[in-house]
Amino acid sequence: MIISIRSNATKEEIEHVCERIRDFGYKVHSIQGEERVVIGAVGVGDVTACLESLEAMPQVEKAVRISAPYKFVSREFRRDRTEIVVHSPRGDLRIGGDEFITMAGPCSVESEKQIMDVAEAVSRGGARVLRGGAFKPRTSPYDFQGMELEGLKLLRKAREASGLAIITEVMSDRDVELVAEYADIIQIGARNMQNFALLKTLGGCGRPIMLKRGLSSTIKELLMSAEYIVAHGNSDVMLCERGIRTFETHTRNTCDIVAVAALKELTHLPVILDPSHATGKRSLVPSLARAAVAIGSDGLIVEVHPCPEKAFSDGAQSLDVPQFNHMMADLKPYIELWAHSRLAESVAAV
Ligand code: PEP
Ligand code: MN
Repeated sequence: MIISIRSNATKEEIEHVCERIRDFGYKVHSIQGEERVVIGAVGVGDVTACLESLEAMPQVEKAVRISAPYKFVSREFRRDRTEIVVHSPRGDLRIGGDEFITMAGPCSVESEKQIMDVAEAVSRGGARVLRGGAFKPRTSPYDFQGMELEGLKLLRKAREASGLAIITEVMSDRDVELVAEYADIIQIGARNMQNFALLKTLGGCGRPIMLKRGLSSTIKELLMSAEYIVAHGNSDVMLCERGIRTFETHTRNTCDIVAVAALKELTHLPVILDPSHATGKRSLVPSLARAAVAIGSDGLIVEVHPCPEKAFSDGAQSLDVPQFNHMMADLKPYIELWAHSRLAESVAAV
């Protein structure tokens, strides 16, 4: 069950509701939203009796039964789409709203020249967010591990020069505070989707999160991981489909494209598609990007490098700048259609 408390309720009144919930045998998990407290009640008990009792309490605005194991992120909890506000030097942008958002940039931050050049180029090409890893999860310990703090500082410089918001990955709960100082969106990579200590820490980091689907994770597991972050206090979470492991070896991963539509049915959170990691091959990126727009994804995150053959990581799947510009031009009419259907969806919802 999820119980929304009236915004004018006092601390004592909220505690009184919590006690009532506990009396019915449930565990209470309350989160303080911007406007009001929302309480999650989990466990086994007499749902009908508990709901009836809670609805009779004046400080309770709404009490609903959520059958999905993920509560706060489910569509049952919220019918409306969640729009996440991201701050950039050029002003706020909304992810999950009426604008299709493209995030672009290199896999890794490698040098000042590389990140400044690519930031300027992708900004000109229509991206709204600059990606670039400073802490890199690499399969081999001998591969480039990222520029760490130096990389974060370069991202800040590129942010100021280009006006783009920054998305960058954090791999450990130790570094969350540091990365939050530099990032407008914090990325949680596929390999950390179920790093529960990290997910809990993100609850209090004060930044929107992009949570990537784990290499072998189900849609339900992805949603449960998002639930961790929201249940710990941060409701600004977007999800990212980036391909999963299958028996296919032609592509680096197998893009579960329908996961985008499935997630849209199951959750109110925005969904982003990563055609770079999903394919591992630059030639396939534009086609998959088109599919992402068509299926109703809220945006794209795509790897772009000024000189992919010299990239320290993921060169084979990175577009160069002309290829990025070409892809963006090719996507334009599809994004116009996307915007029309968003509008129609909003009108139908009223
Ligand atoms: C990345 O975005 O560069 C990355 C490492 O992605 P993933 O976690 O999806 O493999
Ligand atoms: Mn990469």
